[in-house]
Parts: sequence; C-alpha cells; structure tokens
Amino acid sequence: MKLTIVGGGIAGLSAAYYAKKNIPDAHITLIESDSHWGGKITTDRVAFDDGHFIIEGGPDTFLATKPWGVALCNELGLGERLHGTNPNKKNTYVLNKGRLLPLPEGLAMMIPSDVPSILRSRLISWVGKTRMGLDFLLPAKNVNGDESLGSFVSRRLGREAYENLIEPLMSGIYAGDGDQLSLASTFPYLRDLEIKHGSLARGALEMRKKSKGKAVQGSRSAFLTPTTGLAEIVEALIESLKSKVELRPNTRVTHITRSDLRPSTFDLELETGETLETDSLILATPAYISGHLLASFDPALASVLQSIPYASTATVSLAYRCSDIPRGLDGYGYVIPRREGRKALACTWTSTKFPHRAPEGYALIRVFVGRAGQDIPWNENDLLELSKEEMKLTLGITAEPLLSRVFMWENAMPQYNLGHPDILKRIDAILENYPSLALAGNGYRGIGIPDCIHSGELAVKKLPESIGVENGLAPAPTAL
Ligand SMILES: Cc1cc2nc3c(=O)[nH]c(=O)nc-3n(C[C@H](O)[C@H](O)[C@H](O)COP(=O)(O)OP(=O)(O)OC[C@H]3O[C@@H](n4cnc5c(N)ncnc54)[C@H](O)[C@@H]3O)c2cc1C
Repeated sequence: MKLTIVGGGIAGLSAAYYAKKNIPDAHITLIESDSHWGGKITTDRVAFDDGHFIIEGGPDTFLATKPWGVALCNELGLGERLHGTNPNKKNTYVLNKGRLLPLPEGLAMMIPSDVPSILRSRLISWVGKTRMGLDFLLPAKNVNGDESLGSFVSRRLGREAYENLIEPLMSGIYAGDGDQLSLASTFPYLRDLEIKHGSLARGALEMRKKSKGKAVQGSRSAFLTPTTGLAEIVEALIESLKSKVELRPNTRVTHITRSDLRPSTFDLELETGETLETDSLILATPAYISGHLLASFDPALASVLQSIPYASTATVSLAYRCSDIPRGLDGYGYVIPRREGRKALACTWTSTKFPHRAPEGYALIRVFVGRAGQDIPWNENDLLELSKEEMKLTLGITAEPLLSRVFMWENAMPQYNLGHPDILKRIDAILENYPSLALAGNGYRGIGIPDCIHSGELAVKKLPESIGVENGLAPAPTAL
C-alpha cells in the first residue's frame, strides 16, 4: 500500500510519524515543496558573544494543556528538554492609550475571575467595570447557532472589557478580527460556561479552582518549548522518519487527478513533470492550497476548502544590550488592542519569558505584526523600521538593535470566522466519498501546534489501512 503525505509542516510530519508507527506495511512518502522541513516552525540559532540567540520565526511555544504536543515530544525523547516560561517575571501588559498597563491577575482561560483585581485595574473605566458586573446577573442567552467572539464577550462583559482586555488576548491568537471570528470554532468552552454557570466570571472562577488543584499535582508551565527552540521537534521527527519514510523535500505537487488506470487511487502531478500514483493521500497543506491541488479532482471540495480565509502576519526579532533598554523587561511582554490603531499586534520579551534564549547581558524582543483586515507593509525593511518605531514609542528604546531577523508569513493564519463550523461539515460530508483521502493542518480544528499534531494523527486513523492495526486505533469519527 502506498501512502503519500503532502506538506512537511508539523501536521504532515506528525501524520508521517503516526503512519510509520501504525501502518507498518505502508510505503510512506512525505512531500514538501521547500528545502526546509517544519513549515511555520523555523528556528534561527545565532552564535553571539559567549552564547546564542534562539530566534523563533513562527511559533515560539506550545500549549501544554492540549496533550498531543507533550505526548509526541515524550515519544521522540524530548520530554526532558521541554522548558516552561519564566515563573519569576510573569507580568503581561496591555497597551492602553499609548501606555503599558498590567493585565489584571486571575484570568482563567483569558476570562477575569478575580473581582478585586479587576476593580484595581486601570484598563477599564468605572462604567466599564459596572457593566462587567452585569455578567453575574444576566441570564444565559438563547442563541440559535453560532455568534461572533466579539458579540458574545460584549454581551456578557460589555464592549469596553472586550476591546481593552479580551480582544487583544483572544483575537491575537488568530491574528483575527473578533467581530468575525466564530465563537464555536475558536473558544467553544466560553458558551459552555455561560450555559452551565450562567456567568463567564463564575465559570472562570470554577476553572481556576480546578486548575489550581491540578497544578498542585505537579503539572508544569502552561507553555512549553524545547531548549534550543521548536525546531528540535522537527529535527527529531525527521531523524525518526528517515529509516522508514521516503522524504522528498524541494518537491512541489501542482495538482491531483484521478488515476485513469485505477480510479480508486490518486495521481499526484509534480512540478518536475513526474506523476506519483498513491493508494492513500493525506493533504497537510494550508486549506487554500489543498483546494487548489484538488480543483480538477473534486471542484466542490476544492471550492469549500478555498473559502477558508487566511491572514498574513510577520514577526520581527530584535536583539539589544540590556543596558540599551530604559525600561526593565519584567514580564512576558504586551498585547496591543485593535483600537490602539498600531500595526503591531503584540510584543514578546522573549529573553524574559525564556531566559535561555539570549546570552547574559542581552535582551531579545519579538514584535508580532499584522492582523486580519489590516494592511501592513510587505517588505523586510519597512517591517523592521515599523518594529523599531514600536520599540521607541512604547519602550523608549532608541539604540539600534545588535541584530534583527524578519520573517514574513503570507496567508499563514486561518481565520475561523462565522460559518466555519458549516464549512467543516461540508468538507466532512464530501470526504465520506473518499475513504483514502484525509486532510490535516491548521485550517480546520485548531491552529496551535498540539492541534496540528493531533490533526496528523487523526488523518492517519481515518485511512482504511489503519483499521485494526495495533495500539487499538479505531477509525476517527470525522474526516479531519
Ligand atoms: C507568526 C506565527 C506565530 C505562531 N505562534 C504560535 C505559537 O506560539 N504556538 C502555537 O502553538 N502555534 C503558533 N502558531 C500557529 C502554528 O505555528 C501553525 O498553525 C502550525 O505550525 C501550522 O502547521 P501546518 O503543518 O498545519 O502548516 P504549515 O506549517 O504551513 O505546513 C504546510 C507545509 O506544506 C508545504 N506545501 C505547501 N504547498 C505545497 C505543495 N504544493 N507541495 C508540497 N508541499 C507544499 C509548505 O511549504 C509547508 O511546509 C503561529 C503561527 C505563526 C505564523
């Protein structure tokens, strides 16, 4: 049996890993258009002075509470190399009318649950705080279907709390527009809290109590990363795949057609002019690319896949001498609400969050630029200038950075907007016609690294060859 996986990001690599493990007889090929494995995961390790700057171009950490990231790292022997965030300087700030104000304490899954801390916060006016209090009184609304994140949080906590506090935290994860993002596809547990507890704050308080109990049982930081960067996961995956999987970097698939000779198989046309026939196929490319590849194979499926929008973003990492930074970097950084009108979305004080990522005496800062619906300059020089300006305006840094790295991510962040759950249903329905075709990646049911790993594992489980193999794998209930 031939299984081909297209896309060597974390989703495709994970699919190859679980296929190797669970379909031992398959001939597995992993195809990647780039020379670099890992897709959005890209780590630059720059020797400097007596140490190294560890510069992440895309993701810089992953969530430990979703189990699939930690599980894969443990299997790859990386468990002991995972670092949590710095527990000693945990402040996070929010830009408010050009000043940095601390995020109130006691946020549980980004929802305020500590009333005294909210009352002390200068991020919300007294009118706004009074409106937030209505959350304890307002009954759960009878909503038929989905609603936007912005409308949901605004009706529970008020528009001011949404714009000044919740929007920059939540929409930032997707680089999205909260008034467009689907609540059901991004933060479904918030609606559950409303229904179960009649109040977001009461529900968040419950969650906080529960998570404290878990922390006592020894769980570590909520965010983890390997010692020398996330690329360690990619390197370990490639090492483990080498012996059993045919790895084909620098190979672009241009389109997919049905095989004339064997209609149940797929023909992959490569840029080189070669045609690869395969029995089973996992597409771990961004949804719009998977749609493009399938355009002649199944136009209806292609068009649904291409209806998932993606936003472009960039990260700019800047290194300074600590002595060049007038303000102490006493936390993980700050987020910037959309209403501030800045091009930057957030700024991570990387060397405080993960002290091992910069040599002693130096600081590494990462500016995250771009969000859905906002134009940003699309060249390295302008992005660098814009980030230096952000450093000057907010942190008062006038020194030139000692080094800088710009990473531009065009159409990189899928937007789970209103209607996304219906898109997924339509994709699932069409995929029922193709038992040997599965999709994986960030376009569907989670954009974080653990979700993408899980999507690769589920894609393998969906294939008919997986049925009945060891480890008790059963076919996945859904296609993705
Ligand atoms: C700036 C940024 C910061 C982020 N921060 C975090 C974070 O801190 N934590 C977190 O958990 N997540 C974060 N994310 C999200 C996460 O990194 C991504 O969702 C995830 O890495 C996507 O993995 P993937 O395998 O689905 O897709 P990709 O990484 O996009 O991989 C798809 C691969 O397919 C290849 N490909 C495309 N077309 C073809 C073709 N025709 N033929 C062959 N190959 C093809 C591409 O070259 C690419 O390698 C961030 C994302 C970005 C952009």
